[in-house]
Amino acid sequence: MPEPLLSYAEAAARIALVCDRIRPASQASATETVPLSPAAGRVLAAEIRADRDQPPFPRATRDGFAGRAAEISTHQFLFLAGRVRAGEQASAPIAPGELCEIMTGAPIPAGADCVFMIEHAEFSSEVPPSFVRLAAQRTIAPGENIVPQGAEAHAGAILISPGIRIGPAHIALAAQCGLSRLEVYRRPRVAILATGDELVPIDQIPGPGQIRNSNAPMLAALAAAAGAEPIVLPVAADREQAVDDALAGVLNPALEIALLLISGGISAGRFDLVEDALLRAGARFHFQGVALQPGKPVAFGEVPVGQISGSPAVTIPFLALPGNPISSAVTFQLFAAPLLAALAGDSSPQPRFVLAELKEPWSGRTGLTRFLPALCDFATNPPRVRTIPWQGSGDLAAFARANCLLVVPADAAELSTGSLVRILLSP
Ligand code: AMP
Ligand code: MG
Repeated sequence: MPEPLLSYAEAAARIALVCDRIRPASQASATETVPLSPAAGRVLAAEIRADRDQPPFPRATRDGFAGRAAEISTHQFLFLAGRVRAGEQASAPIAPGELCEIMTGAPIPAGADCVFMIEHAEFSSEVPPSFVRLAAQRTIAPGENIVPQGAEAHAGAILISPGIRIGPAHIALAAQCGLSRLEVYRRPRVAILATGDELVPIDQIPGPGQIRNSNAPMLAALAAAAGAEPIVLPVAADREQAVDDALAGVLNPALEIALLLISGGISAGRFDLVEDALLRAGARFHFQGVALQPGKPVAFGEVPVGQISGSPAVTIPFLALPGNPISSAVTFQLFAAPLLAALAGDSSPQPRFVLAELKEPWSGRTGLTRFLPALCDFATNPPRVRTIPWQGSGDLAAFARANCLLVVPADAAELSTGSLVRILLSP
């Protein structure tokens, strides 16, 4: 009896095991430094520490008047002794009975313990006024509208740890610390090998029975979005020798490929030659087939890259993705994206699912975890999702109308309108 197909959860767990093994190695390998703005999307390789206290001085968070809360709370007029703008420093401490006009972002003068907002101030009648008081209906306490020096971070504190995918907030924080360049992990290099006799290049008019190779640019785009450097190889024909030659070419240590993606040629058909070719290349499989829709034939394993003399054999992970475009895209998202994250040194968990409410009922057979092209409306609370009608896993037009994948658990025969479901956002 054939073995039952691996569940999606078990397949994801096997991917995660390999991720946990390769992430430390990726984080220990060579890094590079890049200018700040282009560092967005890269993975930080060296911790960022505060170069000074943040804020570097007690900072006003409002335009208003700095003074002593005890005095201001009497609601008596207090003498307006000076003014401090952002970028300036008060020339003298505030004496008893005095206030200092202050702008947002300016350092609090010595002697002041609070700032009351200009909107809550009342002024003496001369022009310009020399006395100010807090409006009777307002209260103030020490510390109000002040961020103390070092409240956000003390000099030397670790602000961002290695392994973080760099976003705009990290870039701003690095800039605040005076860093114009960041040390990041190298981008993992992904080889993309499409197989199939029917494939022609994009700029060619397909002959009878031929189609254009849409998977290669799609997988390259997915890989680039995952922070990798895609290398698209020439298409391999459905002949043993052609697939063997293509593998021999790419499994070359000099190319420094971190992940091999193969599309097509892994179903049960007579011309599906990829798995045997991988075995001939010395591959070890972690799974061959998963109880998924779309993407059931997907295979995952590790394959040796040719040895440089004297050094031990090195293996790289590979994923053999089904050729149907949506199967390829979905299995990339489920399995290649986490591997690439690990290869990029990224420590955040992958893939990231979110919850949404189902707009229309779904019913179908149990046994497969489904990832169905769906459209989620994020303007509603909670977000509401419905599947996109499709002609199966080759329907790129339907896929292009989707903005997420609806997850149908393997044991669900129906999902009712209004139920909370998991979705996987499109990259
Ligand atoms: P296969 O997995 O090789 O059996 O391919 C399954 C289906 O996907 C077939 O209809 C193929 O024509 C189609 N297909 C395979 N490779 C590609 C590709 N690179 N681009 C677009 N469609 C493909
Ligand atoms: Mg094929």
